[in-house]
Formats: sequence, structure tokens, C-alpha cells
Amino acid sequence: MSPTSSPQQTAATAIAPGRLFISGAWHDSTDGARMDVISPATGSKITDVAKATTTDVDAAVAAAREAFDGGQWSGLSPRERGRILLKVHDLMRERVEDLAQAESQNVGKPIMLARVVDVNNAAETFEYYATLGEQLDGAVRQTPGNTHAVVRREPVGVVAAITPFNFPLILSSSKIAPALLAGNTIVHKPASDTPLSALLMAEILRDAGVPDGVYNVITGAGSELGDHLVTHPDVNKIAFTGSTDIGAHVAELASRHLRPVTAELGGNAANIVFADANLDQAVGAIIQAFVFNTGQFCMAGPRLLVERPLYDQLLAILQEAVPGVPMGDITDPDTVIGPLASRDQLAKVSQLVTESVAAGGRVITGGAAVEGEGFYYQPTVIADVANDNPAVVNEVFGPVLTVQAFDTEDEAVALANSVPQGLAAGIQTSNLARAHRVSARLEAGIVWVNGWALMDPAVPFGGVKVSGWGRENGPEGLANYYRSKSVVFNLQE
Ligand code: NAP
Repeated sequence: MSPTSSPQQTAATAIAPGRLFISGAWHDSTDGARMDVISPATGSKITDVAKATTTDVDAAVAAAREAFDGGQWSGLSPRERGRILLKVHDLMRERVEDLAQAESQNVGKPIMLARVVDVNNAAETFEYYATLGEQLDGAVRQTPGNTHAVVRREPVGVVAAITPFNFPLILSSSKIAPALLAGNTIVHKPASDTPLSALLMAEILRDAGVPDGVYNVITGAGSELGDHLVTHPDVNKIAFTGSTDIGAHVAELASRHLRPVTAELGGNAANIVFADANLDQAVGAIIQAFVFNTGQFCMAGPRLLVERPLYDQLLAILQEAVPGVPMGDITDPDTVIGPLASRDQLAKVSQLVTESVAAGGRVITGGAAVEGEGFYYQPTVIADVANDNPAVVNEVFGPVLTVQAFDTEDEAVALANSVPQGLAAGIQTSNLARAHRVSARLEAGIVWVNGWALMDPAVPFGGVKVSGWGRENGPEGLANYYRSKSVVFNLQE
């Protein structure tokens, strides 16, 4: 498929049939309802997909329960399951263009980003977890006298995976791959705005040999289906990624049923630039931190903290450099910034910038939506903000950077840690001792030194404070999907 295909052509080729995937087969929703999928680049309809009802949720959970209890997946050895995950990886590589086009057209991602980041990282996640079977080996423990203890690592059961709109493929893969390796079955509800790649993944998982009922997809409104799914008696674990508000609601509901939850929630990271930083490298990291994925990145760095001697110089550099970051046609391989993913997202970003300026922020570049079709917003830098500025306190989730000055290391750390979120942080410095010292003091699940958004499936990420519970990626991410059972033998005859 050509990268310049129209959204309509791409959708018709790559994302049919747009129905619910339950027990290895495609289904319409029980009431026949469908929902539109909109292209953020044009604002017009790409296609539509089934809009599930709670009856469909029941059917998907029943399929996952039956597949789990039947043992056709959990009964395989981790190595056998890993082999199928490797096949998933291979098929994703074969279908890279289908996946990248779906992700690009649906989320509004520049095509190069979709190929090089989204599909690549998601495929690597399956490849990575395919090799981690030994983590499920369990242990033998020395116990007193004539006893012997075996600690087994067993799958949790049926996992409800609920994913957000911004990195559909990556954040689904970081749940599906470890959950499957550990022997669980899954009901996946992708975000309503961006459901297309999950439907493609259903085909890929089926073609790789994942048995019927092990992976099920229901598309539909979280506000209508979410509570039902989270509290369903046959669901054993919730893997949620999304906003802090919905995540807290999900965690509250799940805990009433004592159901384990991983919750990867909102971020609002600080990027601390010390005066001793390599300036070229720091500017690259600063721009990457707030324009990557058009700022719709939970681990974006929208709060720039600059040591005072560098403040004016850095603002002047950003004023010149930021408008030059290529923005626009998402089918152009050189485009870096695409549209925001939805009309709602555009409205939220516009509103926060307006409030930030009203509170005293000084726009040095950008500051407005782009006129014309699609949901584009100019990359925006707002200087001289107070620490209670609305764009500092809230997660903007758009290509917007606020800039504050600091005088001491202690002040930088205090500003960085002053918001309720704690997902990521960055330090730009050439002083290694300082990098170690400051990273240890930052309240975040991941800290980047002299760079931004360096991600790998082997490296765990996740939040502290209101940014959530648990970690994804790495062996830590696998640990969400098994539980231990101790079997203690009395060897006395
Ligand atoms: P969201 O509005 O919280 O939605 C996330 C998912 O929850 C969607 O599938 C949504 O379905 C569903 N949902 C809605 N109401 C629900 C309910 N009552 N019960 C269960 N599920 C429900 O988040 P978003 O706007 O898609 O994503 C942006 C947010 O996610 C940002 O805050 C970002 O920081 C965060 N995020 C965090 C991470 C991380 O790893 N920490 C990664 C990416 C994004 P509908 O789409 O149908 O409403």
C-alpha cells in the first residue's frame, strides 16, 4: 500500500470488517449499532465499527472464561506460548504497512512515526516477551524438617485490557504480550476514537495461532461498557491505561470486588535543563519532549525548567527552532507533528492555552489552532509561567511547553515534584554526579538523562502519585499477569 493512499482507501483495505471479535469470529453488536471513526487529519469519517452493548461484553467475557478454563492456552508451556508470540511479531513485521496506515489515519500520527515508533515498538514487545518464559518457572523453597515447598507461577485468568487513544498499538501490546505469555485470556476494549489497530491485531493473533476465545475485542463507549466489564464476576484482573480520573474510578470499582488493577494514568513531566548541559542535545530533547506524538504522550515533558543563566538564550533558540518543526500532511514521511487525535482534544488544548495566557503566561511561539481541515494546533511555547499556571498544574496533552526558571538544584527538584502527577522526568546536564543525585530525588517512574522518550520493551515504566499503580514492560510488566501459589509437601510417610 502506498504511503500516500487516501484515508478512505487505507481504511477499506486494512481495517475490514470493523466488527466485534469474540471467540475467534467477527460479530455485529447485539443491537446492530455502529460508531463512526474520524480522521483527525481531515475531520471526516474514515469508517465505522460495531458499538458493543453490555450483552456483547458478557459474550466476550464468557468466551475468554471458557478459553481460559478449557486450558487450550494456559495448558501450553511458556515456551510454546512464546513461540506463538514470536509468530505474532513476525506477522506484525509482514503487515507493518497495514498497521502503520491504520494507526496513522486513525490517530493522526505522521506515517513515519507510526512505522518507526508504533509498529516497531509494538512488534518488539511481542518479541521481547516471547523470550521471557523462564520468568514463569517459579521456585523451590527450602523448608524445615521433612517438608518441601514449590512456588508455582500461575496465570491470573481473564484480563480486561482497557486502552487509551494516543498509542493504541503500543499500549495494547504492552498488555497483550505479557498477559498471553503468562497464560491468561483477554477481553480488550480500545478507546472509542482509535479502535482500528486492535481489530487488525485480532486478525494477526488469530493467524499466529492464538486459540479462539483467548483474545477478544469489543469496540464501544467506555462510559457505557466500562463499569460492566470492570465489575464482571468472570473478570480476574484489570489492566487500564488512560486518564487519572477514569483510572481512579476503575480502581475504586475494581477494589470493591478485590480485583487487582494496574493503572497507567496521566503524566505532567518536568524537563530540567542545567546550565552545563550540551545545548544542542538539550534543545533536541526539549523539542522531542513536547512535540513527540503531537504532545499526546503520557510521558511528555511539557514543563521545561531552565537554570536561570540559560533562560533567555534558550527561549530565543526555541522561538526560532519550534516553528520550523515539520507539521502537516501525515502521509509525508518528513512530517513530525500531526493533528491532535480528536475535536475534543483540540478544544481542550485550546482552552488550556487560553487559560494559561490569562494567568500571565507569555506565548513566545504558536498559541492557536491551525485554520483549515483537521485538528491541528501550533506547537506552542509559553514562558514566564507561575507554578500555579493552569498549563503547569494540568496535563495539557498537546504540543504545548511551559517554561520556568530556577536558581538551585533544590529548587529544580521542588518544582519538578510540585504537581500531583509523577510519571516521567528528564535531566539535561553534563554532570554525571548531578544526574544520579537529581534522578534519585525525582518523583517519577522513569527519568531520562540527556534525551527524551527513549523507550524499550525491556525497560519498565509507570507512575507514582496520581500517575498510577504498577509497571508495564520488562519482567516487572509480566509480574502483573501471574500470581504465586505455594504447594507445601509433607514428605513424612
Ligand atoms: P480516558 O478517557 O481515561 O480513556 C481510556 C480508556 O478508558 C478508553 O478506552 C475509554 O473508553 C475507557 N473508559 C472510559 N470510561 C470508562 C469507564 N467508566 N470504565 C472503564 N473504562 C472507561 O483516557 P484517554 O483520553 O483515552 O487517554 C489519555 C490519557 O491517558 C492521558 O491522561 C494520558 O496521560 C493517559 N495515558 C497514560 C499512559 C501511561 O502509561 N501512564 C499512557 C497513555 C496515556 P472510551 O474511549 O470509549 O471513552
